[in-house]
Amino acid sequence: MGYDLERFVGYVNEGLLCCVCRDVLERPLQAPCEHAYCDACISSWLIHHHSCPEDRLPLDISTLRPLHRYMRNDLSRLQIRCVNSGQGCDAVCCLETLHTHEDECPFTFISCSSTGTTALCCPVQVERRGLESHLLECEFRSRACPSGCGHTLLSVDQSQHNCVAELRTELELLRFDVISVSAEMLGKRRHMVQKESMLKSEVEDLKGQVSRVMCDVGLHQEDRTIRREGSRKARPRSLTLDCIKSREVTVI
Ligand SMILES: [Zn+2]
Ligand SMILES: [Zn+2]
Ligand SMILES: [Zn+2]
Ligand SMILES: [Zn+2]
Ligand SMILES: [Zn+2]
Repeated sequence: MGYDLERFVGYVNEGLLCCVCRDVLERPLQAPCEHAYCDACISSWLIHHHSCPEDRLPLDISTLRPLHRYMRNDLSRLQIRCVNSGQGCDAVCCLETLHTHEDECPFTFISCSSTGTTALCCPVQVERRGLESHLLECEFRSRACPSGCGHTLLSVDQSQHNCVAELRTELELLRFDVISVSAEMLGKRRHMVQKESMLKSEVEDLKGQVSRVMCDVGLHQEDRTIRREGSRKARPRSLTLDCIKSREVTVI
């Protein structure tokens, strides 16, 4: 579907009109016969036909191409009124920048819930320029409890809100949390105590092993010393004997 010719300011070349809807081309495509159409118009035409709607020449969707560049330039320079001109927007812009304007146009209707400032259930559709004043009274806008309990409330729920009841529920939940955390801690502690006594007995066992090894090493050393000393005592005796023998020799 093209842009309504009525919205354009100034002369529009006939070559820029769609051969199907007769409005100004929107997302244009061109056939080998040079006729041009809106993408949506020719796509739905070709579901039931296999020819150009203008001259009936055979036409297949695969042969459609983008519009000639000079025509594209002419098209994008056309001056068009904002789609919200009926609501009071007097903006006129070139076709190329139309979407940029319409995305921000203060007269465009938007849904309150799509703005992200309220809960997703607000059904109100409001002009963008009126959003701020709507939000002041929007029933789905959330705000902090005026009594200061720290809860966030939707305006719509405010009358049923009871700070004491809310806080009591919260306290119950916290209490439950504390109980489960302490049970968990207790379990962990029991585990640690078991582990500790296991480690202690392992240490005792190792100590026993170490002292046995030390004892063996001591005995071994003692044994070696005795043997070494034994051989040292034996040597001086033979030396004395030798000495006596040699003296005897000299006396003779
Ligand atoms: Zn069209
Ligand atoms: Zn044609
Ligand atoms: Zn506008
Ligand atoms: Zn709202
Ligand atoms: Zn409250």
